[in-house]
Amino acid sequence: MPSHATGCLLCGEDLAYATVAQERTCDLCQVTASSTAACIHGHFICDACHRGSAADVIEGLCRQTTSVDPIALCTELMRSRAINMHGPEHHFLVPAVLLATYDNAQGRSEQKRAHLAVARQRADRLPGGFCGTHGNCGAAVGTGVFWAIVSGATPLSCEPWSQSNRMTARSLLRIADHGGPRCCKRDCYLAIFAAMEELSRLDGVALSSTTPTCEHSARNRECTQSHCPFFPVSAATPKTAE
Ligand SMILES: [Zn+2]
Ligand SMILES: [Zn+2]
Repeated sequence: MPSHATGCLLCGEDLAYATVAQERTCDLCQVTASSTAACIHGHFICDACHRGSAADVIEGLCRQTTSVDPIALCTELMRSRAINMHGPEHHFLVPAVLLATYDNAQGRSEQKRAHLAVARQRADRLPGGFCGTHGNCGAAVGTGVFWAIVSGATPLSCEPWSQSNRMTARSLLRIADHGGPRCCKRDCYLAIFAAMEELSRLDGVALSSTTPTCEHSARNRECTQSHCPFFPVSAATPKTAE
């Protein structure tokens, strides 16, 4: 069982220690360093990245990845012990995985670094609990941030302005229709799926997608369990005969 208090920063699994240091390349920043430790899956995170924030982990992995599957990338990042069960880091997670996979799919990886930096700045302005206090879930806003960056929208734009607002609206409606209480994992997945549908309408781009199974229900006190489309079937409590 992965530990979210210790272990690998990326996947939470145990670290394995060698007696002799090896040259390893950091999975987040690509810096090479000599180390005796890597996780049992082979992840190596350098000391500088280990001291970083959740946003550093998200930005680092999204810069490096060649994935074109935003759901799989989101799932991988959710395993990081730098990312809490709930929290405002999810407001950056959504636009980051959408930008990374969209830029990869378009063969525009040279733009990705700049896009991610802008998304991080914009997401930083969305406080935690925004969904409850402003009627505007940050995961949905993240999809609007994604399209505003890709389309170059400004407050004076015509089509890009309309498209970005519609992107947020469709994601937000999907989240609202599901109902509360909030779950940052569920709401990220719902927002990304809605954004992918809108993206294929807007741009004809079909990003690949896996069907996610939640790996976090056990640590979510407010998990709606079988009411959540991502709740693992194997974890459902068998119904007792009445
Ligand atoms: Zn690992
Ligand atoms: Zn690093």
